[in-house]
Formats: sequence, C-alpha cells, structure tokens
Amino acid sequence: MERLQKVMAHSGVASRRKSEEMILQGRVSVNGKKVTELGVKVVSGDRIEVDGIPIYQEQPVYFAFYKPRGVISAVSDDKNRKVVNDYFTGISERIFPVGRLDYDTSGLLIMTNDGDFANVLAHPKHEIEKTYVAKIKGNPTPEDLRVFRRGVVIDGRKTAPAKYKILSSDRAKGTSIVELIIHEGRNHQVKKMFEAVGLPVLKLKREKVGSLNLLGLMSGQYRELSKKEVSQLL
Ligand code: URA
Repeated sequence: MERLQKVMAHSGVASRRKSEEMILQGRVSVNGKKVTELGVKVVSGDRIEVDGIPIYQEQPVYFAFYKPRGVISAVSDDKNRKVVNDYFTGISERIFPVGRLDYDTSGLLIMTNDGDFANVLAHPKHEIEKTYVAKIKGNPTPEDLRVFRRGVVIDGRKTAPAKYKILSSDRAKGTSIVELIIHEGRNHQVKKMFEAVGLPVLKLKREKVGSLNLLGLMSGQYRELSKKEVSQLL
C-alpha cells in the first residue's frame, strides 16, 4: 500500500507536491472514483487516472548516464535537437534527467522515473556534492580562487562555500584545469562562479554526483544503478 501522490510521483506524472495539488483539484480518480483528499492509499493493480488518462505504476529505475557535449538535458525538444532520452531507446519507463547539464557540458547525469528521488537529490539542503572539472582561460593561483571558499555573488546571491583544486596549468596556452565541488544546482553555476573571478570556462565536465562517478562509462553510454548506489546518493 502506498500513498496515491507517491505512486503518481513514481510513475513520472509530476512531483509529489504537484500530484497533491492535482488530487485536491479533483483531477485524479482511483478505480473510477474521484479522489479529492490527501491520504488515500492504493495498491498495485488499482486503476489511477489523471484527467481521465490512466497512469501506469512503473517500477522506479535509476541510471548513470555519461552525457556528451551537444545534447540537451531534456526528454524531448520541439526543434528536434538531440536530447538525453534519445540515448535510452531500449528503456520503456518514462525517465527524465535529474537536474540539467548545459548543452555544451558533458559528464554524469542521473536519469530516473522517480519524481520524489529527483526532488530530494536536487534540493541543496541535502548537500550532495557535485564535482566538476573545468578548463578555464587563465592561470590562477590557489589564492585567486580562495573566494570560492566563502562564496561569490552570482545573480545577486552568494553561492555556498565550494571546494576547488587546480589540477594543472598550461602557461604557454594560458589555460588551466580546475576541479570545483559544489552542492547547489543553480543555473550555469560553475560557469558563473568562474566568470565572477574573471576566468571564462572553455570546457566543462561533471565527474561525480555524490560518490557516484563515470567509471566504466564512455560518452553516450549509461548503466543502471544498484539499490545500494541509489541509497548512497540520498
Ligand atoms: N554549471 C554550469 O555552468 N553548467 C553546467 O552544465 C553545470 C553546472
């Protein structure tokens, strides 16, 4: 027995909160009976409909995907550009990316059909570390980047303290490779943080989400996560 809104969220209809709103709005029925109160529980096999359209109780699935550059972190695109779901042709569950990587950013993206899990993972209060490796224009010293430890102001708000490490510096080319670990997920956060200290990002890759990394995956490949890996993320 599971709460109706939880089953809705797991099926990929909407987040749990949005599902609750849908129930209160009288848009949901179970076995042909309209439900307008929260707290109703359902069992597998119950027929759930949203706006008269049945939803299927999918088993939750979780994948680690190595997103290539030049791919949109979306389920579909109205201009027919390549999206992350194009790589999951053999998967029948309605999966979607947890958060987003920019079109020109590569690296680890988690894909799931579990709306609750996605919400938890994306929330900064859970402080899940995301590790990025950026190629930047410039040869900063560690002192130049010390401001990241306190936070920099982007879009009028200070970022949470971040960790960083200069991995290499090419003085002839005037570029450097820097690892940056953040646990927020603001729009273009890494690029904006480097911009804030005058160091444009030339290339960006996400290496890790929590303890999960890209090991064993090539660009464009994915693998299903074990239960243990999923629970370690939360
Ligand atoms: N920060 C960025 O600037 N871009 C990404 O894709 C992810 C984090």
